[in-house]
Amino acid sequence: MENYKQKIDEYNEQLEGKSAKEILSFFDTLLGKDLVLASSLGAEDQVLTQLFTSITKDARVFVLDTGRLHQETYDVMDKSRRKYRLTYEVYFPLSESVQEMVATNGPNLFYDSIESRKLCCGIRKVEPLGRALKTCKAWITGLRREQAVTRKSLPIVEWDDGHQLLKINPLATWTEEDIWSYIKDNLIPYNDLHDKGFPSIGCAPCTRAIEKGEDVRAGRWWWESPELKECGLHVKDGKLIRKRES
Ligand code: SF4
Repeated sequence: MENYKQKIDEYNEQLEGKSAKEILSFFDTLLGKDLVLASSLGAEDQVLTQLFTSITKDARVFVLDTGRLHQETYDVMDKSRRKYRLTYEVYFPLSESVQEMVATNGPNLFYDSIESRKLCCGIRKVEPLGRALKTCKAWITGLRREQAVTRKSLPIVEWDDGHQLLKINPLATWTEEDIWSYIKDNLIPYNDLHDKGFPSIGCAPCTRAIEKGEDVRAGRWWWESPELKECGLHVKDGKLIRKRES
């Protein structure tokens, strides 16, 4: 099997300065069905969905349906599957795990304690993500360098140690303005909640609109202190890294 990990420096050298579409095309040719886009149906992932489906009719895009998403999120998924003739791969949490968790801790356990919130994220997001990533050799994300100080040196291609596969960030160099211009210019469906003060959209009970001037992350798990707002979806060198979800 090709050792993709050892070629990361080579890929980055080759792809720095290339467009997101060129980056996606490169990996589509290299990996075919072993390449997947993990979509949260947020703005960046909508851009990537449009680009990826314009490159190949066999684009693999998966969504984690936690069972607690906003109706607006399902609406953008429905619009996108029609517009791009896309069959999303949808991963649900294991029903027995959810049943046991809700029976034991109640439906709103995430407000009770950080441990309870992490239990819910673990069952509804982290486990299904791990299952989805077992089906591929590389995943595409919508991470951008501009999103956080910790992301300033985000590479185009990196090694996801936690999941043991390549992580590709084709939008690493894009700005927020680039994202929205591209969405508007290409009539890409996007979540209506973005127009209602939600820059970052996750599960309905754990996301709120933010006020002008608030950090974009302020609307996620707002009842917790900022340094504890991890859900464990991005792992680097075996450690969780701070992540802003889209
Ligand atoms: S974001 Fe909230 S509802 Fe969604 S999985 Fe995490 S704790 Fe559960």
